[in-house]
Amino acid sequence: MDTSPTAFPGIDALTDFATRHPRLFVLTGAGCSAESGIPTYRDGNGDWMRPAPVTFQAFTDDDTTRRRYWARSLVGWPTMAHARPGAAHHALAQLEAAGRTNLLLTQNVDGLHSAAGSRHTIDLHGRVDTVRCMGCETRTPRSVLQVELRQRNPHWAALEAKAAPDGDADLDGLDFSRFDVPDCPLCGGMLKPDVVFFGETVPKDRVTAAFAALEEADAMLVAGSSLMVYSGYRFVQAAAAAGKPIAAVNLGRTRADDLFTLKVAQPVGETLAALVARLPAT
Ligand SMILES: [Zn+2]
Repeated sequence: MDTSPTAFPGIDALTDFATRHPRLFVLTGAGCSAESGIPTYRDGNGDWMRPAPVTFQAFTDDDTTRRRYWARSLVGWPTMAHARPGAAHHALAQLEAAGRTNLLLTQNVDGLHSAAGSRHTIDLHGRVDTVRCMGCETRTPRSVLQVELRQRNPHWAALEAKAAPDGDADLDGLDFSRFDVPDCPLCGGMLKPDVVFFGETVPKDRVTAAFAALEEADAMLVAGSSLMVYSGYRFVQAAAAAGKPIAAVNLGRTRADDLFTLKVAQPVGETLAALVARLPAT
């Protein structure tokens, strides 16, 4: 295999981009976590590889959908809980430590950027390691609910299934009506993972804070996202409208390819690690 610098197209241009724009607003997506063994919903063309995730309306309105969600989550949670940050997460944490980024906005719900040491982060779509009561808004660790789900559903806990995105697992053809889901112990309200489901609105304060950071930034860096979800795509639109240069590192096609100043179609972890290695110390 050719390992000469020319085998890594775009890295020089990316290094130049980061050097000329010292305060980067970073937007990340599933591509960053795929290298940590977390499955993604979409392929390299940004198309669905699997059924779309459960919608907010189905989760809240349909008892069977909710039981099915938690049954799959019981089986899929260990994969999510054991995932560790990868090269992309570490490189972005290093960029922040070097003072080269002003915010890391992630569409991922796995918390791996925080685990890698990034501090100025906004989890646009929430965190799957947290459970929220829709009645009293109390938030509790997902790991606590896992213990309860296992106790209430010992037969299900023994099942194994292929891991799916967002702590889900492919578990089908079972009678989900018998899966026992607890309500909030404080108010009896419905428990929901603290993530923004499809069909649900992103909390306004997160969006406002992220747009404020974008305004302060010199340029935008998109890492590992196909930008197919509008809640992330609109930040690229806003950056372009404000005349801010946008660089992207993503292996496949994205929804915003025509808006980028620079696109590096290479693996995101390897590319960002190379970027960090090439940038002069600050
Ligand atoms: Zn409650």
